[in-house]
Amino acid sequence: MKNFNPADKIQDLQYFGEFGGVNPSISDSSTYTFLSAKTMFDTFEGNAEGCYLYSRHSSPSNLYLGEALAAMEGTETANVAASGMGAITPTLLQLCKAGEHIVSSRTIYGGTYAFLKNFMPRLDIKTTFVDITKLDVVEAAILPTTKVLYCETVSNPLLEVADIESLAKIAKKHNLTLVVDNTFSPLSVAPAKMGADVVIHSLTKYINGSSDTVGGVVCGTQDFINSLKSVNDGASMLLGPTMDSLRSASILKNLRTLHIRMKQHSHNAMYLAQKFENDGIKTVYPGLESHPSHQLYKGMINPEYGFGGMMTIDVGSLDKANALMELMQNRNLGYLAVSLGFYKTLFSAPGTSTSSEIPLEEQAEMGLTDGLIRFSIGLDNDIERTYQMMKDCMKELSILN
Ligand SMILES: *Cc1c(COP(=O)(O)O)cnc(C)c1O
Repeated sequence: MKNFNPADKIQDLQYFGEFGGVNPSISDSSTYTFLSAKTMFDTFEGNAEGCYLYSRHSSPSNLYLGEALAAMEGTETANVAASGMGAITPTLLQLCKAGEHIVSSRTIYGGTYAFLKNFMPRLDIKTTFVDITKLDVVEAAILPTTKVLYCETVSNPLLEVADIESLAKIAKKHNLTLVVDNTFSPLSVAPAKMGADVVIHSLTKYINGSSDTVGGVVCGTQDFINSLKSVNDGASMLLGPTMDSLRSASILKNLRTLHIRMKQHSHNAMYLAQKFENDGIKTVYPGLESHPSHQLYKGMINPEYGFGGMMTIDVGSLDKANALMELMQNRNLGYLAVSLGFYKTLFSAPGTSTSSEIPLEEQAEMGLTDGLIRFSIGLDNDIERTYQMMKDCMKELSILN
């Protein structure tokens, strides 16, 4: 882990465009010609390395982006998708069939939760949701029919940390596929290096970083990615969540600055988390000593990229949370918006937005309180100035004295 630097792995890949361009040429075709009919047949059978068939299966631009993301995660290969959900849902459908079972963290992205809880039972695939930080509870939930263990490295929105090495051991012992959504912690954490079998990202967030598109990726073994892309029974190929080449080319260019952005997001979030905690605000950030998994997470991350840009504060009530978010937006400190990884700070109240798929009783049980505000801290040049301005907003609303 210590000698695996994902940013260097990305940098070591060298691509040229068709005419010597410094960026690879964008493939602008849905279909590809073959010089011989025999090669077309072989390509359908999956036996013609380097030949393109049809862009729902693969395209040069998508392969370039996939290759860079596989290098970043240290997996054999990867397959990009049109959204994070377009990466997650085919993966789970490929790994499970009717009658089989999934053990999942209960604190996961709302869309993933809704898919597992409401959609998969239609196909007779059931999920047991567990507190992923309790390894004995995780293991006890495994049934003879369990196929997948699913979690997020740092969970949305409560920033719980999954102990990936220990989970990988449990998965191996019970012959399960460990699938980790690493959206919140690109570069900081390399789950495949700790034993995860499949690593997923919503590219929509940090990796693209400009809030101009949705995208996703599945990183894994060549065998697994081939199975997703199989023309006969591959969930990615047959369900069709294909990314467009123009978008994959633009995401690859944004990936070039990810390491610089992650350092700044982490630096700014650490600064604000420490200040807010000192001011007596209930603050959750994995970089704080007070975070229940601080020591664990410290041992998991590549310290260069820090503890990430996500933090939450609890201001006591939904009314106060809403008033604070509106005031901060008026003062141009960020946007009241879902999503994350933008240059500007984004904030939302998870209970009424990104986690609203989770029933209220379950929200309470997980500690998802009404006054919670989730922040994706931006790339602000002078974070001290931002802090002073945020503090003024809190004083005006009597959140701080
Ligand atoms: C946003 C998000 C997703 C879903 O990705 P989309 O690109 O919106 O489909 C999945 N997991 C996590 C952790 C996310 O934050």
